[in-house]
Amino acid sequence: MDCLLCHRQIRESWPLGFLMLPQKKRVTTTCSDCLAAFHKIDREMSCEGCGRQQNSRKLCQDCLKWQAKTTYDFSNRALFQYDEAMKTYMHDYKFQGNYQLRHVFDVTFSHFIGMQTEVDFLVALPIDRQTWQTRGFNQVTGLLTELSTTDLLVMDRQKKEKRQSQKKRRERLKTSNHFQIDVECPEQIKNKRILLLDDVYTTGRTLRHASETLYAAGCRKVDSVTLCR
Ligand SMILES: [Zn+2]
Ligand SMILES: [Zn+2]
Repeated sequence: MDCLLCHRQIRESWPLGFLMLPQKKRVTTTCSDCLAAFHKIDREMSCEGCGRQQNSRKLCQDCLKWQAKTTYDFSNRALFQYDEAMKTYMHDYKFQGNYQLRHVFDVTFSHFIGMQTEVDFLVALPIDRQTWQTRGFNQVTGLLTELSTTDLLVMDRQKKEKRQSQKKRRERLKTSNHFQIDVECPEQIKNKRILLLDDVYTTGRTLRHASETLYAAGCRKVDSVTLCR
């Protein structure tokens, strides 16, 4: 098979960090040279609020600000650093719409999600209709294999706004909450523990909006896992 990123034939096996995966799940889609460009986050050296790579487990400046203005409990864990290599990957996957590229990380990301404990529902963040029309796929569910997620949230489709990625950081932070609960029986999520799944944690605003909506609906605990931070 040819590497999904550099298109050269793959001859070698996965680098050490990826060998933790069960044998049968180790499908080689990407060569070790390309994979070496991405950097995993060391949990012991990451912010315990957002999962950002740093020098300790202390809350980072962004999370301290969130802590000051929110009352609910929320934290994110991320697998990879959102560095240049990851930004290029995300650009090609999401904005060029190369759906095949989901296979660069789907097994690794799904395995990471599977290791999280005390979860009742896995919820992939939904995308709005405009994004569906231009992209044609949900980039989050594309990154999942053999995990069953539950659609508890919808985006408010009345409001037409610029896509998140086109906004400046300050604009993004101001965005109002467009998530709504979409379940037939609201009782089914009362007191449940939710793990939100997203591709990138940037400002944290989107995930926190989703968690606020779920807490307001009676969920007991809402946290998130993202591919990168
Ligand atoms: Zn390659
Ligand atoms: Zn943080």
